[in-house]
Amino acid sequence: MSDGPRRVTHWIGGAAVPGAGRTGELYNPATGEVTGHVDLATAAEVDAAVAAAARAFPAWRDTSLARRTQVLFRFRELLDRDRDALARLITAEHGKTHADALGEVARGLEVVEFACGIPHLLKGGYTENVATRLDSYAIRQPLGVVAGITPFNFPAMVPLWMAPIAIACGNAFVLKPSEKDPSASLRLAELWREAGLPDGVFGVVQGDKEAVDRLLEHPDVRAVSFVGSTPIARHVYATGTAHGKRVQALGGAKNHMLVLPDADLDLAADAAVSAGFGSAGERCMAISVVLAVDPIGDELVDRIAARVAGITVGPGDDPESQMGPLITAEHRDRVAAYLDLGVAEGAKLVVDGRRTPIRGGGTAADTPGFWLGPSVLDQVPVGSRVHREEIFGPVLAIVRVPSYEAGLRIINEGEYGNGTAVFTNDGGAARRFQNEVEVGMVGINVPIPVPAAYYGFGGWKASLFGDTHVYGTEGVHFYTRQKVVTARWLDPSHGGVHLGFPAGG
Ligand code: NAD
Repeated sequence: MSDGPRRVTHWIGGAAVPGAGRTGELYNPATGEVTGHVDLATAAEVDAAVAAAARAFPAWRDTSLARRTQVLFRFRELLDRDRDALARLITAEHGKTHADALGEVARGLEVVEFACGIPHLLKGGYTENVATRLDSYAIRQPLGVVAGITPFNFPAMVPLWMAPIAIACGNAFVLKPSEKDPSASLRLAELWREAGLPDGVFGVVQGDKEAVDRLLEHPDVRAVSFVGSTPIARHVYATGTAHGKRVQALGGAKNHMLVLPDADLDLAADAAVSAGFGSAGERCMAISVVLAVDPIGDELVDRIAARVAGITVGPGDDPESQMGPLITAEHRDRVAAYLDLGVAEGAKLVVDGRRTPIRGGGTAADTPGFWLGPSVLDQVPVGSRVHREEIFGPVLAIVRVPSYEAGLRIINEGEYGNGTAVFTNDGGAARRFQNEVEVGMVGINVPIPVPAAYYGFGGWKASLFGDTHVYGTEGVHFYTRQKVVTARWLDPSHGGVHLGFPAGG
């Protein structure tokens, strides 16, 4: 998969292909050491990957559904076989714990399993006699070469949200993974080849903005799926659509959890801590703000702080670790800066993650590696930067609110609309929340409501640009175009020339 021990290459036409341009450094986030390099594609290398995909497309498009399904089933089995190795690769570059990495592979696998049902998903409709002796039927056809551009935080799962469905629908897929943890993409490429996918149907270009921008302009790329931060999602949507492409661009998030006074506070505290600090808060569905409705604030904060004190932070490959490091030194510094900012904005720092002990080291602040422990800011003012901005790290903000209505208003006035949750034992209140909240994915006593593979994932507002969610039935629609055929087979009663507009009958 590379031309040296730690050189992560492209994958073009069914084989590893080294780049000839710039390279980026890869790190072990638990130690801060440079562990390898990744090729950063030039425009010409992107063109080569698209050309290989375009060559592979016609034959794959015409491959029977039975055969395509066989490849998907085999891919599913291989992914299952190698899930442990894949998870280790993810932990080495991303830093998340092994258990968490296994979890993301499992969620990706579910999308592969969904895609195995593609014959059913592509079934169209047929109507006999739409007019006299005239029949109509709808078919869904693949688009051609489609691209996926993915973030660092789920190096296996997010590509698996896209590629299995695109490929099952008959497209050729070019992946541009995050340059921060690119190795999982090559492992997936190897598994696709082993599963019998023809060369070129799945390709990988490693890279950064240069590669992304070439994909967005390339005339042979018909559609782009993007997952990442909101500023880049906006850029991808604007540029891709300006070049005539179908685009779905999922952006960032600031997910609020509303805790009503009647909630089970132990359940709510467990959920806030799990969803706030799992994967060091580097999840787009992480809970980053808890809205505590009066009068439970003090009690909830105490329970959260007690649980946070029990979290074991350490290297992701240490089975005792519950939380690993952050992705880069710059990101850690950016996240840690929010702690001082929060205090300057009037919040109370209840737990300072810079002081958290790291397994095998000292405190987060003085251990090599990109460490920051779980941190809690209480009494965060509504509308402050800590409250509004996506921090994407282990910082949980608690905002005190006087009522359900006040909490709901805060959520609905937010820029993002990815995920949210309400914790309550009142079914009526939960139902009202589900109806009134302006967020795409809602949990009721569930902190991270990621939809199952057959629903589709996507937020509202600045969390999604475009009309279709990734995976699920909407994923199938995104990667196909509907064509409606109207057919008449000659019969003696065809009636000769008729210049009027067909009006049925
Ligand atoms: P990012 O936006 O920095 O990068 C995402 C992708 O865009 C990467 O492949 C990267 O190489 C590329 N990219 C970066 N800068 C670019 C530029 N200037 N021009 C063109 N392409 C560029 O995001 P990230 O830091 O890798 O991931 C974290 C972000 O992703 C967070 O904001 C998180 O909320 C978001 N995210 C969203 C979802 C979702 O489903 N909505 C899921 C996971 C992550």
